[in-house]
Amino acid sequence: MTGRSDTFGTFFLPGPTEVRREVLEAMLRPMIPHRSTEFEDLFARLQTGLQSVFQTSRPVFVSAASATGMMEAGIRCLEPGRVLSLVNGAFSERFASIAEKCGHVVDRYEVPWGEIHEPDELDNYLTNGGYIGVTVVHSETSTGALNPVVQISDTAHKHGVWCLVDSVSGLGGAEARTDTSGFDYILTGSQKAIAIPPGLAFGVASKSFIEAAANAPGRGAYFDLVEMHRFATEGQVPSTPALSLLYALDKQLEAILAEGMENRWKRHNDMSTMMDAWLIECQSDGIDVSNIVEKSRRSPTVSTLQLPEKLNAEAFLGKVRSREITVASGYGKLKSRTFRIGHMGDHSPATLERCLDACRWALVN
Ligand SMILES: *Cc1c(COP(=O)(O)O)cnc(C)c1O
Repeated sequence: MTGRSDTFGTFFLPGPTEVRREVLEAMLRPMIPHRSTEFEDLFARLQTGLQSVFQTSRPVFVSAASATGMMEAGIRCLEPGRVLSLVNGAFSERFASIAEKCGHVVDRYEVPWGEIHEPDELDNYLTNGGYIGVTVVHSETSTGALNPVVQISDTAHKHGVWCLVDSVSGLGGAEARTDTSGFDYILTGSQKAIAIPPGLAFGVASKSFIEAAANAPGRGAYFDLVEMHRFATEGQVPSTPALSLLYALDKQLEAILAEGMENRWKRHNDMSTMMDAWLIECQSDGIDVSNIVEKSRRSPTVSTLQLPEKLNAEAFLGKVRSREITVASGYGKLKSRTFRIGHMGDHSPATLERCLDACRWALVN
């Protein structure tokens, strides 16, 4: 294992994703006082980069939390009322459950794992609804399905309903344009397609969403977006920021800005295309492996692959590990029959090729 941490391109979990050494080393910078111009300079620089990632001119909230914190923050901004949760996997179910635990009555528009939600069907649900909000997951990391969030958000708006978008394994890898798509609220975390260590969550809310949130009585304190918004517009954060993670983010945003979002989306689409080509090649060589998601509905950042009947998932993962490559087990109820590859963040067709070579070897040996 010596020297392994020097070479990027071995770790393919769909979160946390592999972090470049340069980004890890940025966390060695000394502490600074957060009520200082030095911090405000850093925070302003982070805003510029994050606004590019989110494709927004709105302030980007930065919370010392995992992404689930920002899911809850969005929910807590809704006034009391019924919520319709679009569920097609573990994380979209989590969004529904957070809404319930925060006191909302939740209905679920549920489709089988691996499938996506149809805007027309959503339209039907909302027609008879009386809902205050819709929750949806963009890239469902437990399955690798990509929801049409722009059409879903448009459909919600047609009915005057807020739409909360979890793009935790989307933003930074899958195309998402916050302002032009008119998302009310969209969130992500640090350890997926942005590819820094876990521990930060980010969110953007539209002007009207924040204005309406001021009337929501259950916003609490730590995850109050209205408060985060007030501080962010003054170039500050409400409580002690996770400085070391912000240093890592600063380093990473430099690289993201240099690459450009269009190029970043293209690189992820290229990896997705490569996954498809690899599967077709395996199948034509008689290896019984397949993607559980229909081709046009696949996320560019994560793939869930069904293993051949006779191959035990744990044994497969062990074989892949013996080639010094880490891929993920399937999620929840898919655990024993599938595995997942996270092809996001700083991975590229070159690193993915090594991963796929190891997977193929493990499938046939
Ligand atoms: C990882 C993930 C989450 C939860 O993120 P945490 O950082 O673990 O709180 C939520 N939604 C999706 C789609 C995810 O991939």
